[in-house]
Amino acid sequence: MIKNKLKIISLIFATILLLSCKNDNKPTLNQLPSLKGKNILMVYGGWKGHQPAVFVAKVSKWLESSGAKITLSDSLEVYTNKKIMDATDLIIQYWTMGEITKEQFLGLETAIKKGVGLAGCHGGLADSFRQNPEYQYIIGGQWVEHPGKKIDYTVNILDINDPISDGIKDFEIKDTEQYYMHVDPNIKVLATTKFSDSIHLWIKDRVMPIAWKTYYGDGRVFYLSIGHDPKDFDTLEAKELLFRGIRWASGSKYEPKENTLSAVYE
Ligand SMILES: [Zn+2]
Repeated sequence: MIKNKLKIISLIFATILLLSCKNDNKPTLNQLPSLKGKNILMVYGGWKGHQPAVFVAKVSKWLESSGAKITLSDSLEVYTNKKIMDATDLIIQYWTMGEITKEQFLGLETAIKKGVGLAGCHGGLADSFRQNPEYQYIIGGQWVEHPGKKIDYTVNILDINDPISDGIKDFEIKDTEQYYMHVDPNIKVLATTKFSDSIHLWIKDRVMPIAWKTYYGDGRVFYLSIGHDPKDFDTLEAKELLFRGIRWASGSKYEPKENTLSAVYE
């Protein structure tokens, strides 16, 4: 009898210990790298419809208030400046379409491979330089269509164990573009969106990644497809996703490499 009681008591203790360990291992917001003192290079330009200067002014203000040091460039030529690139922790690019020269691309690619992070949103990161598949290889996805153009849709948080998306509730975003993309099925998807049949019947119920993290070499890459209009980030959850993704991507030079591999077809 006493033996049985002891068995039950030790089982209860073991369960409590296991649960508390599990909880300790859960990544929290505090585990995201701080932006304080980080060198962030913001590169903006391309198609004017995305208001690159307005986006950069809005986001750089937030980042500066978190203690980041911001360098702005409205020219892709900055990617060839080794001194600036070597001193950079994170590149935020907002450059829709346009063209990148071989030398500019090489400067960008080399920096990310060596551990400079890359973060961005919408067409500023995943619809840049359409003629350059090598660039698309870095991002993990490429814009294809935005059915119905400006519409209302829902963003569903998928990964509640990742500090970028943990604690954010599913949310509605209004009067903006819902991106249909071609994506690498190995990226770690944090949030998704589902298409309806209101525009095209054949995409009804298709689920599309909307935020993800991945690596290119040693560089962390974060992407969010929201952001057709800088006002999209007046929606607090959208701003939170972008801001947390930026924090995560800023840490590749300082944090241990994470396993973001998340193959869909295994
Ligand atoms: Zn757009």
